Amino acid sequence: MSGFDYDLFVIGAGSGGVRAGRIAARHGARVAVAEEYRVGGTCVIRGCVPKKLFVYASKFAEEFEDAVGFGWTSEKVAFDWSTLIANKDREIDRLNKAYIRNLEGAGAELIHERAVLDGPNAVMLASGRRVTARYILVATGASPFVPRHLPGHELAITSNEAFHLERLPSRIVIVGGGYIAVEFAGIFSGLGVETVLVCRGEQILRGFDDEIRNHLAAEMKKKGIEIRTRTDVARIERSGDGVRVGMNDGTAFGAGQVMFATGRIPNVTGLGLDRLGVEMTAHMAVKVDAYSQSSVPSIYAVGDVTNRVNLTPVAIREGHAFADTVFGGKDVKVDHSLVPTAVFSQPEVGTVGLTEEQARQGFRAVDIYKTSFRPMKHTLSGRDERMLMKLVVDAETDRVLGCHICGPDAGEMAQLLGIAVRMGATKADFDATLAVHPTAAEELVTLREKWKG
Ligand code: FAD
Ligand code: NDP
Repeated sequence: MSGFDYDLFVIGAGSGGVRAGRIAARHGARVAVAEEYRVGGTCVIRGCVPKKLFVYASKFAEEFEDAVGFGWTSEKVAFDWSTLIANKDREIDRLNKAYIRNLEGAGAELIHERAVLDGPNAVMLASGRRVTARYILVATGASPFVPRHLPGHELAITSNEAFHLERLPSRIVIVGGGYIAVEFAGIFSGLGVETVLVCRGEQILRGFDDEIRNHLAAEMKKKGIEIRTRTDVARIERSGDGVRVGMNDGTAFGAGQVMFATGRIPNVTGLGLDRLGVEMTAHMAVKVDAYSQSSVPSIYAVGDVTNRVNLTPVAIREGHAFADTVFGGKDVKVDHSLVPTAVFSQPEVGTVGLTEEQARQGFRAVDIYKTSFRPMKHTLSGRDERMLMKLVVDAETDRVLGCHICGPDAGEMAQLLGIAVRMGATKADFDATLAVHPTAAEELVTLREKWKG
């Protein structure tokens, strides 16, 4: 027995913290987990899960339209926002309880309070109780970044509030061009809200394959979403029931709501990291090594607070690896390369590995295989929507470096492509794989012509 109250004190019961706490407890550690808001963290309470439920909700409008070509009549369909919110809240409550059960079932003690560091082996709880632990894991996640220099920024919402709007606005301006901006543009637009996306960059989704970005933007525009690139909001003013949005080019227009989807910042304010001399990155994230250990040996950090790859499965893997290494006698590092990811835009984006642009920078010769086609469903629905698939191949070794898809179920495909790419599959391996017919995914194993750009 150590002289500490606990072997591990976890600050934050989100994706990373809960996994680390559960696994450490399973390894026999005495674990406490503090949570200041709701157990489950961003993903469960106000991220991935409610977002995906909203995406499902927003797709029905098109489904009803598409059904007509298949012989269905769909008159008098109507949508009720408050029903969606109530049903979503019920599901989140269920998950929240399941997370609490799992954590406590594993033997961890849950403390429903804010916790901050009070020494390399000590934590101060909001109630004033001070506890000690051999190791402390900072798993506090991140929060929406709001450009506070903008006059009227306080009139805008972020994704946190978007999950609890009393009613849908007739028009919304979404600022940002990343995951959250494009996902919520699809959600609001699908639910009938006139949607304007304002992106300061040249195109949405910086960092993704350029052709995928262009393809998605074109498809979103076809659905009626207005995308304004290379521009930014300069001010927001109250106007009647809504707001008036002034742009930096001097133009202005009205809207019911403005939503900032301008990135997220690590939750480190007031945590006491600076007083302990914990090294931070330039983006004010906790700086950690491959084992998630900070510059103070007893303090570790996982998930969004470290700003490595800010995705739920990554936070979970980091938490698990930490617990296995520190309490399970194993040596586990997390490999942050080749992380498959999906953007639940409409249409969806699924991707793993290098973009064409990255591959051309890092490799001497790169072959591109791609196809753009109308998904079979739309031959009868009549919808003008195309799907894009692209393979990026190292011409010298034939190894598939990256796969990029924009279209229905792209996220599901990215999960499986992730296995192939991680295993080092070559284009010849893709070609040798028999197709599943009729699917869209079969295009991935039947692409034969190199793209001659
Ligand atoms: P979190 O899950 O944020 O957990 C941190 C917890 O710590 C929170 O519960 C917080 O209340 C608590 N906390 C903070 N400070 C303290 C303190 N001092 N004391 C006590 N408790 C504290 N990722 C995906 O992979 N797929 C998706 O589809 C996806 N969709 C998303 C949609 C949205 C709208 C958002 C915002 C994010 C989405 N993400 C998605 C990202 C994903 O949610 C995060 O990467 C993930 O939740 C990070 O987990 P974490 O454990 O680092 O932090
Ligand atoms: P992102 O970092 O993905 O995108 C932020 C966007 O806001 C970028 O377009 C950025 O522009 C822009 N921006 C930043 N600052 C400003 C500013 N001051 N004024 C105007 N525009 C600005 O962040 P998100 O908030 O969309 O999402 C946060 C993270 O959460 C994601 O990166 C992802 O890791 C995770 N997430 C994952 C999801 C999934 O897996 N499906 C879904 C949602 C979130 P620029 O590109 O020019 O910097």
